[in-house]
Amino acid sequence: LTRNIPTCLSSWKIPPCVLKSSQSEASLNISNNGLSTAPLQTLTEEELMIKNTVKKFAQQQVAPLVSTMDENSKMDKSVIQGLFQQGLMGIEVDPKYGGTGASFFSCVLVVEELAKVDASVALLCDIQNTLINRLIKKHGTEEQKATYLTQLTSEKVASFCLSEAGAGSDPFTLKTRADKKGDYYVINGSKMWISSAEHAGLFLVMANADPAMGYKGITCFLIDRDTEGFHIGKPENKMGIRAASTCPLTFDNVKVAETNILGQVGHGYKYAIGSLNEGRIGIAAQQMLGLAQGCFDYTIPYIKERVQFGKRVFDFQGLQHQVAHTATQLEAARLLTYNAARLLEAGRPIIKEASMAKYYASEIAGQTTSKCVEWMGGVGYTKDYPVEKFFRDAKIGTIYEGTSNIQLNTIAKRIDAEY
Ligand SMILES: Cc1cc2nc3c(=O)[nH]c(=O)nc-3n(C[C@H](O)[C@H](O)[C@H](O)COP(=O)(O)OP(=O)(O)OC[C@H]3O[C@@H](n4cnc5c(N)ncnc54)[C@H](O)[C@@H]3O)c2cc1C
Repeated sequence: LTRNIPTCLSSWKIPPCVLKSSQSEASLNISNNGLSTAPLQTLTEEELMIKNTVKKFAQQQVAPLVSTMDENSKMDKSVIQGLFQQGLMGIEVDPKYGGTGASFFSCVLVVEELAKVDASVALLCDIQNTLINRLIKKHGTEEQKATYLTQLTSEKVASFCLSEAGAGSDPFTLKTRADKKGDYYVINGSKMWISSAEHAGLFLVMANADPAMGYKGITCFLIDRDTEGFHIGKPENKMGIRAASTCPLTFDNVKVAETNILGQVGHGYKYAIGSLNEGRIGIAAQQMLGLAQGCFDYTIPYIKERVQFGKRVFDFQGLQHQVAHTATQLEAARLLTYNAARLLEAGRPIIKEASMAKYYASEIAGQTTSKCVEWMGGVGYTKDYPVEKFFRDAKIGTIYEGTSNIQLNTIAKRIDAEY
């Protein structure tokens, strides 16, 4: 049996020969375009430069390793080192701590570009930037910033630890305890589903320091990997984003100095809600948008070359309508996401908009990747091509950082308050 496969797509181990994204480069200079309101996809010169740098990094240094990393459920260390070397682990962090000093929107663009090639790498970068660094920037003491931000921009991966076996969609019922003993706390309990834990050197752990206060006892602790009594379990064997480690954690009388509390005692729930609201723009929507776009970009050239019934399969109107419908949904997801990111930068409310972006982009990513598998026919269903991996990776978008139902609950709550 020989497959009549377009030559440029003969193996997924070769970076895709075409990676076109939506035309966000159209206008580079907001002030010179003659419009008082710039189109949403207008990028500043700095944003465009970062986007192009990441695109090159993703294609040259990540793409050749994606298949093996997925197969082995292991992120290649060179990829993590590359993220640090390119300045992608401290995008918004002040250069005085070794950061890049760029915008939140740049984080979004970076994660989108990485996700076009590999959602696992995008996730690691996303958590570091949109959850961890932002939390420490906002709530850290000067000493914590000098210590941790400097490490996080140069060599240390970090994990955000909220979920537990019994506390998922309802995270503030968490059971991990922090008991005060003089100038330190003793932490006991466990966490589930902690992303990047295999490689992380720092863990932001939510534990309850005053259970009598309910969720108002939840406090955020900065815990180093090698702290006595802290154990990182075996990574889960997952359906998708396999290269991104997801581990359980246990805390067995873990002593943490009071100085390692991030922000105020009892304010952990506020920090978690705030950062998850913002992180949704990056951690889910961009990953899902980038992932869906990457899958689409890979598939279209194939269906433009694949011939059946004497013509390109792209030329069948039945297929064209599906492609056009999918492209429209992708564009809508991009606009929702970019709008939420720009609102955040402008200091405007984002809770509803971030949930809408996350909800829509993750649902669209599921539909797009499913369609791409179909459009590529039998080869799309094999592991010789990346689309089946995009399809598996997409599913997580509807689960973490609040499931699709939880996003709908949030959106509905805002609508209830508005009318
Ligand atoms: C790969 C992966 C990585 C993760 N990374 C992290 C991480 O780094 N840090 C971290 O803290 N957590 C992480 N999580 C945890 C993740 O955020 C939770 O899995 C998620 O919030 C859902 O919780 P759950 O799995 O307990 O599902 P459940 O809460 O048990 O939900 C089960 C079902 O019930 C539905 N449901 C629940 N409540 C409602 C409601 N009120 N209304 C309607 N439907 C509802 C849900 O939508 C879902 O369909 C990760 C999870 C995974 C799978």
